[in-house]
Amino acid sequence: MKINGSRILVVNKDKGCGKMLNDIQEVLITQEQLQAKVQELGKRISQDYSGKELLMVCILKGAVVFYADLVRQISIPVFMDFMAVSSYGDATRSSGAVMIIKDLDQTIAGKHVLIVEDIVDTGLTLKYLVENLKARNPLSIKICTLLDKPERRVTDVKVDYNGFTIPDAFVVGYGLDYAEAYRHLPYVCVLKPEIYE
Ligand code: 5GP
Repeated sequence: MKINGSRILVVNKDKGCGKMLNDIQEVLITQEQLQAKVQELGKRISQDYSGKELLMVCILKGAVVFYADLVRQISIPVFMDFMAVSSYGDATRSSGAVMIIKDLDQTIAGKHVLIVEDIVDTGLTLKYLVENLKARNPLSIKICTLLDKPERRVTDVKVDYNGFTIPDAFVVGYGLDYAEAYRHLPYVCVLKPEIYE
């Protein structure tokens, strides 16, 4: 499988992730690549919001690992808040109907808001979130996602910061789950097909 032009087939078996390692078909994005990208994104975001106060909104749970790494690469004043949403659908496909499970703790009126997501797939979750948050009158609202799967997009979503564009595959690790497992893996990978069957 190709990510940004390079083929990565290395599974790092030294990271002590237990028997879950046997479920991995292919590592798509290594720890080193993730680290470098997070640094690059943090630098860009810090420059773009220079002189402003930024509220970074983590979309739980998938974005939590990316978010925790990203906020530590921001060199301007940053405020943190969290939202948890659930999209109805089967285990690997979202339906577009979104329910807010945990809302923000603070008002966002007059604030610069950056939504931090794990992955944009159909775009339906983010479309809902942006519309929902826009109605609360923020000064600005932008999107930062670790991963983008443009092949599967069914609605227009403007991604302002994207880590990696990936093909249409279901990925886990670095916060992303399958049935709540694999979030702790330090890389982004594809599972063996038999795991879903
Ligand atoms: P969308 O609404 O854009 O179709 O889907 C967004 C959400 O679906 C993501 O925040 C994520 O929770 C889930 N999702 C979409 N693609 C994947 C994937 O490849 N792996 C995992 N683990 N979750 C995904």
